[in-house]
Amino acid sequence: MSTDDATRPAARLTVLSGPSGVGKDSVIELIRARAPWVWLSVSVTTRKKREYEVDGVHYHFVDRTEFERLADGGQLLEWAEFAGNLYGTPRGPVEARLREGQPVLLKIDLQGATQVREAMPDAQLVFLAPPSWEELERRLIGRGTDDPDTINHRLEHAREEMAAQPDFDVTIINHYVEQAAYELVGLLGLQTTR
Ligand code: 5GP
Repeated sequence: MSTDDATRPAARLTVLSGPSGVGKDSVIELIRARAPWVWLSVSVTTRKKREYEVDGVHYHFVDRTEFERLADGGQLLEWAEFAGNLYGTPRGPVEARLREGQPVLLKIDLQGATQVREAMPDAQLVFLAPPSWEELERRLIGRGTDDPDTINHRLEHAREEMAAQPDFDVTIINHYVEQAAYELVGLLGLQTTR
């Protein structure tokens, strides 16, 4: 392929979003393992690092002061507050990868997806949906260790998240993670995971 910018096909920015508990992280982990030609954006967050997470791979973990410095300096493509923590997509690396012709995938929440749509109207928005509402409910209620108020709050939030589906370009139903990852890679427009 030519390295001339004028002849290089424009790479695509794809956003993966969907309700909490639908399995976005599992789909992303499969893509990380099987589709290394896809560039996964690394968000900045003020959330505490989980034990299995690696700084710079899963997130850039920063404090609020640093996050606000990035946001105020226009260095974030989008950002949102989720469950008391701030999350944002660094703009520079996304733009650089797209210029180089590499497909870029963002895994962000619904507020972020709306902002990307405004900032980059050519972005492809993919909604990951559960096979049914009952199945999502089952996943969110989990092992039943939470009190009823917490569970109700989570379900209420999930209902709002599910209502955003019509605003997306494509819906993938997460019956099986393997199949969902395969469909997503297909939408990214290059090689497939099989
Ligand atoms: P978690 O803390 O479980 O990793 O992520 C919580 C939520 O934040 C998920 O819905 C995830 O998709 C979202 N998220 C992660 N990174 C970003 C980001 O850069 N921007 C936005 N808007 N949401 C994000």
